[in-house]
Amino acid sequence: MEITKENILKDLLMTPSPSGSEQPIIKKMAMFLKDYIDELTIDNYGNLIALKYGANSNKKLMLAAHADEVGMMVTHIDNNGFLSFQEIGGIDTNLLPGQRVEIHNHQGVVTGIIGKKPIHLQDRDAKAKDYDAEDLWIDIAAKDKEEAESKVEVGDYITYQTQPVVLQHDVWTSKALDDKVGLLTLVEVAKALDGKQPAMDVYFVASVQEELGARGIRTAALGINPDYGIAIDVTHATDYPTCSPQKSGEIKVGNGIVIAKGPNINKTIGRKLIDLAKQQNIKYQIEPIARPTGTDANFMQVSGTGVKTALLSIPCRYMHSPNEIVSLVDVNEGVRLLTHFCDVELDK
Ligand SMILES: [Zn+2]
Repeated sequence: MEITKENILKDLLMTPSPSGSEQPIIKKMAMFLKDYIDELTIDNYGNLIALKYGANSNKKLMLAAHADEVGMMVTHIDNNGFLSFQEIGGIDTNLLPGQRVEIHNHQGVVTGIIGKKPIHLQDRDAKAKDYDAEDLWIDIAAKDKEEAESKVEVGDYITYQTQPVVLQHDVWTSKALDDKVGLLTLVEVAKALDGKQPAMDVYFVASVQEELGARGIRTAALGINPDYGIAIDVTHATDYPTCSPQKSGEIKVGNGIVIAKGPNINKTIGRKLIDLAKQQNIKYQIEPIARPTGTDANFMQVSGTGVKTALLSIPCRYMHSPNEIVSLVDVNEGVRLLTHFCDVELDK
């Protein structure tokens, strides 16, 4: 029985993968992809690389989504059993007080609370303060340092505890939709290509450590040496109060897959994606990015002697927070566009 995309997404979201600890999700991706591809490898850095043979094996197309999510790490345990932490990736520290988190180690999972003095006990001045991680602590209700150390260790990874919830129709909220919706897109494209032969070899890549400066994609791209590459990530929706469409374009959740334009995008590939979307009645939006993008597309483009690169994005509200929001409508449009793109003979 085929697993639904909703169940795949749920499974990916419930598999913690802070940057540097992606092995469990890489295993999950191998499981979801294995029936639809011809070769599967994991490189020395930990990137998953799954290959489906195409009609023209002299040309290679890489589709990449990042496997990691933002998180935190335990840095210290005090005498009373409270934990200090550092953030992994771009987290708004002001969002952290009051959150439930999970601390992961070889023994399993420990739940903790990011503590803060209640409003009654705060100094007036402190209320407007911007937080640093060192102003905060994690409370696992250990009675002292010894008990805390029996449950967690310095260096353990931490993730938000929020569970996925469907808000309306196809609109989901969860932590880590960035970039588990990208991973879901890879799986759904591989499924859609089942029994067909794409125009060229297609490499499905789940890259590690994107949130720390797109590190994994560098070894993946070098190893594959693709002719073409498309990164699949989330981008900021600009459809809620205080956002600026003037600055970043008009990007709406549920309005379709986002095709980036700018110096990080090869003009031919970018144009082909737009033409295909028009031809196939695929809902799409344009995101202007006038600099190298903060995604895997950046290092993909400058790998080796250069890769003809594009970026497709799923609109996301509240990126890197415990409650991001995306629409599966946009994921579906991305899957349709990429599936058609795999049939195109480029450079002809
Ligand atoms: Zn991302």
